[in-house]
Amino acid sequence: MSVFRSSRFARLEPYVPGEQPRERKYIKLNTNESPYPPSPAVLEAVRVAAGALNLYCDPTALKLREAAAAAYGVEPECVLPVNGSDEILNFAVMAFCDGRIPMACPEISYGFYPVLANLHGIRLRQVPLRADLTIDYRDYLSQNCTVFIANPNAPTGSVLTLSEIREIAASNPRNVVVVDEAYVDFGAESAIRLTKEYSNLLVTRTFSKSHSLAGGRLGFGIADPALIDDLTAIKDSTNPYNVNAMTQAAGIAAFKDNGYYADNCRRVAETRDRTAKALKALGFTVTDSKANFLFVRHPNLPGGALYERLREKGILVRHFSKPAIEDFNRITVGADGQMEALIGAVREILTQNGRE
Ligand SMILES: *Cc1c(COP(=O)(O)O)cnc(C)c1O
Repeated sequence: MSVFRSSRFARLEPYVPGEQPRERKYIKLNTNESPYPPSPAVLEAVRVAAGALNLYCDPTALKLREAAAAAYGVEPECVLPVNGSDEILNFAVMAFCDGRIPMACPEISYGFYPVLANLHGIRLRQVPLRADLTIDYRDYLSQNCTVFIANPNAPTGSVLTLSEIREIAASNPRNVVVVDEAYVDFGAESAIRLTKEYSNLLVTRTFSKSHSLAGGRLGFGIADPALIDDLTAIKDSTNPYNVNAMTQAAGIAAFKDNGYYADNCRRVAETRDRTAKALKALGFTVTDSKANFLFVRHPNLPGGALYERLREKGILVRHFSKPAIEDFNRITVGADGQMEALIGAVREILTQNGRE
């Protein structure tokens, strides 16, 4: 029974993260982490930072903002580091939505957006995708809503072009447009440079997927300084030291080691395209993904069944029981060996399925 004393939060519908099993060793292809470890420079930076954990970290994360600004081609006052990009999505809802300003997002997208709308009692317009599961950018023009779009989208991997993002930002001048670029490093074009032209555009980034730092919890908001000031006011009103000292140090070192991460992202993209081909050869429909996951469906195998059979074989993927996509599974692109194991397991399941 709930013991909430607050009527505001008595009806929460919390986000349900993908499983993080501890009881058995799985090939983990369910939460879009990088299969590759952080770079040695990151490990060393964390070790050094740990030596000063008796002191508070810099609440303005200045050095990290400077490193991020240099990498993203903006000024440091255009960057807010956060405790995973989920945190800045929450700040954005708090700062830019209210009873008169609803949210809009694709109906099939990151599951955290509806959770945040519910948390803050914000009306949410969920916009259907096209039949091929891509986003029609025209659905987001002149909305009078705070718009949230993941680019690439999750769990489909589809992308909008920069000119489409530009039109969305330009047509909603009085509202904030949030472009969630969690997966952009795997093959989409970043909208960061548009933040200099459109003061209503907020781009969010995370180091959880492309930068091997999911457990470190590091994300960024990049926008015009006035938007960043509003978001920083929310940050300072909830958790001023939101990014801990070890994670700040890890982030700075990771920006310096950009070549290592760029190589990993390229490798993941190559593995993705090879795996997509192999799955298509086995009869799967595979959406055109520019992210580090594949969204796949087989005509003879319900999504829930494939999920269960893979799980029995020690491979975890992500199945969503939402009606529109319940035939699909989202498969994180891991290292080559992991994907070979996946293809082998899928082949066995299909053969066995054919015999039954
Ligand atoms: C994973 C993910 C995030 C959140 O990542 P953090 O780990 O909180 O940085 C945000 N948006 C999308 C679309 C994601 O897939």
